[in-house]
Amino acid sequence: MPALFIGHGSPMNALEDNAFTRGWKDAARRIGKPQAILCVSAHWETRGIHVSAAERPQTIHDFYGFPQALFDVRYAAPGAPALARQIAQMIKSGNVYTDSDHGLDHGAWSVLRVMYPDADVPTLQLSLDMTQPGAVHYAIARELEPLRDEGVLIIGSGNIVHNLREFAWNNPAPPDWAVRADASVRARIEARDHAAIVDWNNLGADVMRGIAGPEHFLPLLYVLAQQQAGEPVQFFNDAVISSISMTCVQVGEDVPT
Ligand code: ZN
Repeated sequence: MPALFIGHGSPMNALEDNAFTRGWKDAARRIGKPQAILCVSAHWETRGIHVSAAERPQTIHDFYGFPQALFDVRYAAPGAPALARQIAQMIKSGNVYTDSDHGLDHGAWSVLRVMYPDADVPTLQLSLDMTQPGAVHYAIARELEPLRDEGVLIIGSGNIVHNLREFAWNNPAPPDWAVRADASVRARIEARDHAAIVDWNNLGADVMRGIAGPEHFLPLLYVLAQQQAGEPVQFFNDAVISSISMTCVQVGEDVPT
């Protein structure tokens, strides 16, 4: 399985047909249907590492001020409790708590509803342990790599540039710093300079301004860490809307049908 970083942007993408959601659908077509999906979302921040192990994950509506139609969305993919227990065993970089109550947050379901609308792929989430630095997130992600051979699609869901404080709701034109920040991270990905990305504090003022809180950036590390020697990366949806970049990254080859 390839691995995907999805720039998720607004939760409204769950309901919309736009250039970004079409890009997500194209990715699902290139990859096909996985055995299971492991999502690392910006919207599950914890102390310690948690993996969701619900049989029937709830749809979590973790936002305010959106239309009722978005609160009405249920994404009823089955859970994967056995896989959750396997993942808890695989990760040696920290203790993993299996959480039988946690459902799917909008970083997961707003994207998956578009990519896999039938909701028939077992889906679970791994949390972001916000007490840990980038290097630990990257190390955890490396330990998950064998899952790819078992047909598990690893999705990181966040945004490479995500500064809500500076987001202009009435003007999608991106400020120069946001364009430079996205391009700078993309150039490091193309150069396979993961060390620089893991240590993002040294990537300069523009990138720092885009990583206003690291939670939307960290899921990228879980995807980049999957890249084996010689494996290609491809970008899609590489656009910046005000102070949020929608750039997506695929690690690995398409899956032939
Ligand atoms: Zn988000």
